[in-house]
Amino acid sequence: MIKKIQQFTDTDNLRRRAEQQLIQQQSTVPCFEVDAKKLLHELQVHRIELEIQNEELLIAQTEVEESLKRYTELYDMAPVGYLTLGRDGAIHQINLKAARQLGIFRAQLKQQRFSAFIRADSLPVFNDFLSSVFAGKAAQSCELPLLPADRSPTLIVHIEAIANDDDQTCRMILVDITERKDNEEKLKLAHLVYQAIGEAIMVADADNRIVTVNPAFTELTGYTLQEAVGQSTTLLKSGRQNEAFYRLMWSALEITGHWQGEIWNRRKNGEIYLEWLTINTVYDDQNNVRHRVALFSDITDQKHAEQTIWQQANFDSLTGLPNRHMFYERLAQEMKKSQRMGLPLALLFLDLDHFKDVNDTMGHGKGDLLLKEMARRLLNCVRNTDTVARLGGDEFTIILTQLHEQDSIERLAQDILCQLAKPFDLAGDCAYVSVSIGITLYPEDTDDIDTLIKNADQAMYAAKAQGRNCHHYFTISMQEAALTRMRLINDLRNALAECQFWLAYQPIVELTTGNIRKAEALIRWQHPTRGLISPAEFIPVAEATGMIIDIGEWIFREAAQQAVRWCTEHHDDFQISINKSPVQFQKEGNGHLVWFDYMRELGLSGQSIVVEITEGLLMDAGAMITGQLLAFRDAGIQISLDDFGTGYSSLSYLKKFDIDYLKIDQSFTRNLTPKASDLALCEAIIVMAHKLGIKVIAEGIETREQCDLLIAAGCDYGQGYLFSRPVPADEFKNLLVTG
Ligand code: C2E
Ligand code: MG
Ligand code: MG
Repeated sequence: MIKKIQQFTDTDNLRRRAEQQLIQQQSTVPCFEVDAKKLLHELQVHRIELEIQNEELLIAQTEVEESLKRYTELYDMAPVGYLTLGRDGAIHQINLKAARQLGIFRAQLKQQRFSAFIRADSLPVFNDFLSSVFAGKAAQSCELPLLPADRSPTLIVHIEAIANDDDQTCRMILVDITERKDNEEKLKLAHLVYQAIGEAIMVADADNRIVTVNPAFTELTGYTLQEAVGQSTTLLKSGRQNEAFYRLMWSALEITGHWQGEIWNRRKNGEIYLEWLTINTVYDDQNNVRHRVALFSDITDQKHAEQTIWQQANFDSLTGLPNRHMFYERLAQEMKKSQRMGLPLALLFLDLDHFKDVNDTMGHGKGDLLLKEMARRLLNCVRNTDTVARLGGDEFTIILTQLHEQDSIERLAQDILCQLAKPFDLAGDCAYVSVSIGITLYPEDTDDIDTLIKNADQAMYAAKAQGRNCHHYFTISMQEAALTRMRLINDLRNALAECQFWLAYQPIVELTTGNIRKAEALIRWQHPTRGLISPAEFIPVAEATGMIIDIGEWIFREAAQQAVRWCTEHHDDFQISINKSPVQFQKEGNGHLVWFDYMRELGLSGQSIVVEITEGLLMDAGAMITGQLLAFRDAGIQISLDDFGTGYSSLSYLKKFDIDYLKIDQSFTRNLTPKASDLALCEAIIVMAHKLGIKVIAEGIETREQCDLLIAAGCDYGQGYLFSRPVPADEFKNLLVTG
């Protein structure tokens, strides 16, 4: 523009150009008079001068217009808002950006005040700001929240303003800093979190030098920010993980930029702790590692707690052996393994014989010691790959894996029986126990885990039934026996109502005289299809199901009625022995009172009844059972201890419980020969019993020889097939007549 104006004032130059043009035109024009020619020449030069000037003005004007247009475009399209405000804050001029910021169309803007777009709480700030803009010459700035008219979200703007020369208006620039402010807020928050977070944070550079750590890091590791910064990240290394561990960790970091896991590290004070560590990588624009951020927390306590919980959930606290839950898991695992390897496994169920006796006589503390010692001995018998578990109480199981030969099961079972037969030293007390072992094989017996467990359990019961202190294999026939038992239970439920029971009586003979003044009542079950079923078969079932209560009651009434009859018909001191199951004692605390009532009703004296009990009852005897036994004695009813010699055979019980008769078990009688050790035992028992004022009855006398030996040993009474089998009451009468 300035150049153009210079061109206009350069008149010499203009004249020169006009004259050159004229010379070119005159070469075609004819000559005139000199003066006229001169004037014409001047005029023509002037005209041409004007034409050139006009042309140049037009060019200049177009250029001015274009530059104004460009300026307006720049003004409108500028990325920041421009406004011109009056002293009163009215908007005089606004560019497109500013209009957009205020959420309005420029056409709608009729002297609207800028303050209309300012949040009410910031109005005083704006008013002060505007005053100071007009008060001084320098540019002023401030930050304010704007409320756009189109209800779009609040904007935070940075305002720069300066008064114009006219002093009536000012120019203002609006820069939207909402995002920046937002980021600043976020950063502030992030910093706060970084400082306050409970998890330790450690930031390292690409060379694994610590760049910064947060306060939680200091608290956890003991290293302050100053101590940590600049150090290698190996500062915390405990040495607990091997090189392979770190290799894996680094390869994950290289490939994915991420690693997470448990790691043992060392605090400044040397203490080793377990942390849960997460490492993330921050990359730059070229995808080079810029930082690695490690986030970690101390999980040592949590781990301990988890371990304790896991331990409690899976292991028996007394013996430290796997518990039922863990056993089940292991068995399932081992079954799978066995299938894979094609090698069978054996499952053994073990149950201590008479463990309860140890508990009851020596106390639970000693019982616990015994279980611990038993666990130790069992572990000694098996290989590391086998599992010994305690299911509870005195029940143990063993999973024998990878059986190459079945003989090894046999050897193990024998070894266990042998190891457990050795005396147990229970803190000064010595105990002897034995164990019954049930054995089943996978996959031979079944391939189902629950059935396998059931099999082992059944086999164990079979071992018990077989006389304890032995082992028994599960076979299909055992399974059938279990089914038969179930059927028996069902049939037994109807037997009483359908009068399928009757009582047989077996004489108890006074050996020296041959007199029969006593008889044992023995129940008989006439099964509608199976015929006569032995009490040895159904009494245990009746006991286990509780049916013995009702059956026992019926037996007593039958026997009592019979006693009345024989007392009157035969001898008034006639006695009938009634077997009373321990279950009856335990389940019916006051059952004996009903008996007494019934006897009173019948007019039967207590002397006419003897109650046969087993030793097991005395071992378990608490106050309730002792009370019942005393009540019998007070009622004149005598007590007979049945099957002596098969159980604990403790003479101390005889004294303690005031027993009247002791029945030597038929297993002794059976083996009686003049030289047999059983005879010596019988003699000893008889002598001791007599010393305690107890009469002795020998059971199961089948031969004259046995009888004679017993008489010679001083035995008081005898019972057995030699004299008579148990017979119905009607037949028994004949014995009385002849006896
Ligand atoms: P227990 O009380 O020891 O009864 C004696 C068992 O020996 C009877 O068997 C009897 O028949 C049998 N016996 C008697 N003399 C001889 C003999 O010379 N040789 C042989 N081999 N055996 C002989 P039973 O009647 O089969 O009873 C078996 C067991 O069932 C009884 O043993 C008893 O524990 C129980 N029992 C029988 N009847 C009753 C009852 O009414 N109530 C209760 N709770 N249990 C009963
Ligand atoms: Mg008996
Ligand atoms: Mg007996």
